[in-house]
Amino acid sequence: MALQITVDLEGCKGYACCMMEAPELFDIDDETGKAILLEERPSADRAEEAERAARSCPASVILVRNG
Ligand code: SF4
Repeated sequence: MALQITVDLEGCKGYACCMMEAPELFDIDDETGKAILLEERPSADRAEEAERAARSCPASVILVRNG
């Protein structure tokens, strides 16, 4: 089963914690200073990484779901 990751960019403050925790899933846009989601539907073996990134986000704008 795959994961589904969403980022509410309106609330993203560009802290970059997500990128530091999961550099293969998140990057930061140089122009907007906000997160770029590199993989919206990564495989389930990335769950731990994705959850870690979500927990690290000070703005709590990363959502990780199964499916
Ligand atoms: S940690 Fe959260 S607020 Fe910071 S860049 Fe990532 S998504 Fe945006």
